[in-house]
Parts: sequence; structure tokens; C-alpha cells
Amino acid sequence: MNIHEYQGKAVLKNFGVLVSAGQSELTVEEAVTAAKALPGPVYVVKSQIHAGGRGKGKFKELPADAKGGVRLAKSIDEVAACAREMLGNTLVTAQTGPSGKQVNRLYIEDGCDIEKEFYLSMLVDRETSRIAFVVSTEGGMDIEKVAHDTPDKIVTFSVDPATGVMAHHGRAVARALGLKGHLAKQVETLTAQLYDAFVGTDMAMLEINPLVVTKQGELRCLDAKVSFDSNALYRHSDLVELRDLTEEDEKEIEASKYDLNYIALEGTIGCMVNGAGLAMATMDIIKLYGATPANFLDVGGGATKEKVAAAFRIITSDPHVEGILVNIFGGIMRCDVVAEGVVAAVREAGLTVPLVVRLEGTNVELGKKIIKESGLNVVSASDLDDAAQKIVRATRREAA
Ligand code: GDP
Ligand code: MG
Repeated sequence: MNIHEYQGKAVLKNFGVLVSAGQSELTVEEAVTAAKALPGPVYVVKSQIHAGGRGKGKFKELPADAKGGVRLAKSIDEVAACAREMLGNTLVTAQTGPSGKQVNRLYIEDGCDIEKEFYLSMLVDRETSRIAFVVSTEGGMDIEKVAHDTPDKIVTFSVDPATGVMAHHGRAVARALGLKGHLAKQVETLTAQLYDAFVGTDMAMLEINPLVVTKQGELRCLDAKVSFDSNALYRHSDLVELRDLTEEDEKEIEASKYDLNYIALEGTIGCMVNGAGLAMATMDIIKLYGATPANFLDVGGGATKEKVAAAFRIITSDPHVEGILVNIFGGIMRCDVVAEGVVAAVREAGLTVPLVVRLEGTNVELGKKIIKESGLNVVSASDLDDAAQKIVRATRREAA
């Protein structure tokens, strides 16, 4: 689960991390009030969307030379002008995709004088099964370029969960950033605070870019991108409340209501599969035959007819879907339940794209019978390979 920058900073602040004073607001008037409460004379007006690259982003509604989604304002009037230009408009960044995201909320911060910008992130490193730190002296808005062109400027290490974060980890960060004296002490403290925040809230990723040294010689986190491990959210009812549904894919929200493991993707073949491994294999084989999956969907083991029908509705609601492949290997899942769910969903909402169904396993004969007797226009397939070829061929025919 992703959250906004202003929320991420509030979470980090609870762990003692130094962030700028600021307030998040929904209207121009509120932004002005928030700015007046800050010391000034420089304010930062920041678009709150679930995507990075805001500083270099462009608003669709504004001229191409207009400033981006993070702006410095040197007076209250400028804050108002920035807020007016940003709120309600669509910000396109390298991370939003071409359709961009509407800015509905701003964060007004006390502006600081930057001496140096660093990069610091943390993630769960699957290779070492540990939490890893990634730090670089080359912070700011071009970290992707740094990673690509000069990877040696990025330092990575991981923390043994048995010991947790230790003083030497802090020293490693200080060394990597070239910090000495009291700034080194500050970054050592920060390293421990960030690790505690990461573990304490079950984060999946934390990115601070930039982490800055101010002209006053202080360390400060100027940006915070936080995502939590959704599987651990049951332990954090306070964090669940930070969820912003307007930032999430509608199909994914609908799927989460039915406890379906659904992830929207960019392709054209809708997939309904049981079991995560089989779902991955199905996506792979669709690609093998030259098409791309529109989603990942694992309906799970003991799904009901209602759940299957909901899954099918979600797939057909995606305008990019040109064909659907149902691939079920019935173990705990029964093929007749799947068939009933699919038939019910099609009766309700109709079906305008080709549908290939491959059923195998528990109650397979009954499942096939239900589909056959429903009179639906379904192509049945004997195995996974056959199914993938048939759906790819069927969508090609439709397109031709
Ligand atoms: P992002 O573009 O989405 O990563 O948004 P950031 O929060 O990182 O802001 C973009 C850039 O704005 C940062 O890299 C900084 O260079 C600049 N910036 C943000 N806050 C301040 C500030 O308080 N003072 C100054 N001078 N620049 C800032
Ligand atoms: Mg940033």
C-alpha cells in the first residue's frame, strides 16, 4: 500500500526523523493559511500524488514551459498562485504514465536552503532476505540516471535481522555520503531511526530523495516515498487509514472487496486463474504466443460462485481487454463453481470479447456441462498451451 509524501513524513516524524514543518491542504485558501503559519520567507508547494518525479513533471492543462509539481514560492501570494495552478490539474511524471494523475491535495512546507542533496532508500532485498540500505551522494531528481550511468556512486548494504541496526551501519551511511563530525553523528542517528520506522511499520520500501544537508548544517528529509507491506496491514489499523482510494486502480479496489488477488496490467488478454503459480505461468505463456496479459488474477482456492462472478466482471470492465482466458486447475477449487460463476457474470453483463476456457481437475465434467448447456459462446481448450494459442488467435481474428 502506497501513501502520500505528507503522510510518510508524519510516520517518520513519529520515529524522531527530521522533516520540515508543513501541512497538507485541499484548497487554495487552506494552502495560504498553512503558509502563513510557517516562518517563511520561502515555501515549498508540493503536489500530493502517489508517484515520484513531481518536480520534473508537467501539468497537462498548463503551457509546456510552466513549472512542475513541486515549486518554491517566495511569498504568500506566490503560494496562492502555485496552488491555483496545481489543484485540480493533471500532473504527468516519469512514474505516472502518460495519463498522469489529478492533483487533489497539496503539501505546504517550510522551504530550506539546500547545501547538498543525497539519496537514501531502504527495501526488502529478496536476494539476502534482509532489509537493505541504498545510499548515494548523487541525490536529487536524477537518481535513475545515476544508477544507469555511474552505478559505482551507489552504495548498498543490508542489515542482519538477528542484530538489527547497529552503530557500524550508521557509520557506513556516513562514509558513503562523505559526512564527518556532527553531520556524521546526525546521519548515524537517522539510520537507526529509519530502520526502526521501516521494521516498526512493516514497510516494503522507503525512499528519501533528497536527503539534504541545509546551509545551516542540518540533515533533513525533504521527500519521502513510503509503501507498506499489504500483507502486514492487519497489524497496523492506524496505517490502514492512510489509504487513499482515489489513487488506486478502481478494478483493484473492487477486487480487494472480494479478497481477490488482482493486479491490473497493460495488455489485452484478461486472465482468470486459480493459484498464483498457475496465474504466472498463464501470463508467461500468453506472452510466449505473442500477446500480453491485461491482469494478474488468482481467484484463490475455495472461491464461491459470487467471487468468481465478481472476478469475471472486473476483467470484462477493463476496456483494454480483447479476449479472456479462464484457466482453472481444480484442486480445492471446483470446476463447476467456476463454470457457474462465469455463466452468471456473462448473463448479467454480457460478453463482447472471445472467451477461452480450460478446466481440469475436481468436477471437471460437471463444469464443462454447465458451460455447454448455458449456450455461451465459449471456446474450450484441452491444456494450457492449447488455451493460450486459442485466445491469442481469437483476439487476432477479432482485430483483423
Ligand atoms: P519529486 O520530484 O517527486 O521527487 O519531489 P521532491 O519532494 O523530491 O522535490 C523535488 C525537488 O524540489 C527536490 O529534489 C529539491 O531539489 C527541491 N526541493 C524540495 N523541497 C525543497 C526546499 O525546501 N528547498 C529547496 N531549495 N528545494 C526544495
Ligand atoms: Mg524526490
